[in-house]
Amino acid sequence: MQAIPYGVPLDAVANPWLTLDRELRAQGLRADSAPPVRAVVCVTVHVDGPAVEVGRKQFPAGLYTAGRYAIRRGVPRHLDILARHAMPATFFACGYDVEHYPETFRAILAAGHEIAAHGYLHEAWDLGEDEPALLEKTHALIQQQLGVTPVGWCSPSGRKSHRTLPVLRRLGYCYDASEKDRDRPYLPADSAADDFVMLPNNTVSLDDYPFYFTGHSLAAEACDNWIEEFEALRQAEGYIHLTVHPKAAGGSGTPARAAAMDRFLAHVAAQPDVHCMTLAALARHCLAHPDAWRTE
Ligand SMILES: [Zn+2]
Repeated sequence: MQAIPYGVPLDAVANPWLTLDRELRAQGLRADSAPPVRAVVCVTVHVDGPAVEVGRKQFPAGLYTAGRYAIRRGVPRHLDILARHAMPATFFACGYDVEHYPETFRAILAAGHEIAAHGYLHEAWDLGEDEPALLEKTHALIQQQLGVTPVGWCSPSGRKSHRTLPVLRRLGYCYDASEKDRDRPYLPADSAADDFVMLPNNTVSLDDYPFYFTGHSLAAEACDNWIEEFEALRQAEGYIHLTVHPKAAGGSGTPARAAAMDRFLAHVAAQPDVHCMTLAALARHCLAHPDAWRTE
């Protein structure tokens, strides 16, 4: 059985990021004096605007305006924080939100971040035969409204079906950020070609939602936990995939919670052996070196 590292620094041979480190240095993107890359951090922002409430058939007023808060306050706040840390991020967008708030997503692109797909109405139910058409609809909306072609997807609810991956592949996607079964990227074992990679997301301890919505945590508790998880993973697989939401309820859009996200990213940015990248950039790297990421 494969040894699964935890809490024990790996030697240089086992560090999965040395190829990336060499490539960054060759491109002049990593200083000669910097230590080898030991961990990759991907910050993902699930915009989750009014698409969520509309999808639940909730009239978008009063209690049901957490999504509108994301558009009006949370996203600008998160863009400001990411800019101060000079960190690229991946923003997951619902088709409905792109359709109704295109300027928000144009601002995200203008700031140099990636836009990826996240359902049309943040569907948290089994889609059945409607799934291909909804994936295609959001894909086309992002292309038409924003002029970019998404290459990544994350299931709004974590749900997938036998239809999901064939449709994503047909549309030209190269990664899925929905799996929760490993601590590192991997190529699916049943993949006929090295053209698709899984970038698992940890929706338990590296996601703001379970802390704030389910756990009613204080912002400081969420930040402390993320730092603890970051440090543990940095000593293990070195893949840290943070998920935050700029909405009000259950997210990191409000000031104190945005400040907690800010503190976490400041901790990350202060580590010289860390490299931050978008999921699309990470997917391209993994697919350029499929042997290193293929599942056994
Ligand atoms: Zn979401």
